[in-house]
Amino acid sequence: MSILSVQGVSVSYDKVEAVRDVSLSIEEGRIVTVIGPNGAGKTTLMLAIIGLLRSKGTIYYRGESLSRFDVEDRVGRGLCLVPERRELFHDMSVFDNLLLGGYGLRDRSRLKSNMEKVFDRFPRLRERRKQLAGTLSGGERQMLALGRALMSDPKLLLLDEPSLGLAPLIVREIFKVIGSLREAGVSILLVEQNARAALETADYGYVLETGEIVQSGPAADLIRDDKLIETYLGGR
Ligand code: ATP
Repeated sequence: MSILSVQGVSVSYDKVEAVRDVSLSIEEGRIVTVIGPNGAGKTTLMLAIIGLLRSKGTIYYRGESLSRFDVEDRVGRGLCLVPERRELFHDMSVFDNLLLGGYGLRDRSRLKSNMEKVFDRFPRLRERRKQLAGTLSGGERQMLALGRALMSDPKLLLLDEPSLGLAPLIVREIFKVIGSLREAGVSILLVEQNARAALETADYGYVLETGEIVQSGPAADLIRDDKLIETYLGGR
């Protein structure tokens, strides 16, 4: 069964339609990626799914339309966005940033166990728990952003360009973590300009160009597609 099903969704900024009649779905426990160039509408789509932008069409989460739910309700149901700019509190410690991630937890006793799980997944964050977030390296910040999201026990993670601005070695590390989240039962929608890394990690992929889905298929097929290799995967 699909954990998320987006059906005929369009999003406009004033009169400009940034996302046009997009349909896609994510099966429970899978990683689905949306790849595409700068300005294709990837971030816009994510913002519509989490409820930060109004959209036309319908977004179903576990079979239920999200239209009457605001952002807080959506987060309470298990959706969680890790934004492109990561949006950490730079003047606060790693520990406090994580604590804020668990702010909405109904069961407060899970704060401690979730924190332990995050520290087990990211030992670097445990070492740096007292350090201010603003003093972390780019890779560490992305780990903190992911860790903070995991504090809320998400069922569906929306990851906006997790590899943006990171060195290749760190990118590999981040994608390894993303792959391991699937093993932990989290479903993931992964938006990326780094198409190769995204397709290597994902189960299924969609290609978004100027607001529209132009191609889709199992990630293993897309990564071998001549046209995509030419356009997005840096040639053979
Ligand atoms: P990037 O990888 O650069 O973030 P993207 O695929 O995420 O690109 P979006 O950020 O969703 O693309 O932008 C889609 C289109 O909508 C672009 O043409 C962009 O200029 C436009 N757009 C984005 N945000 C706004 C806004 N707040 N007001 C008006 N137009 C916007």
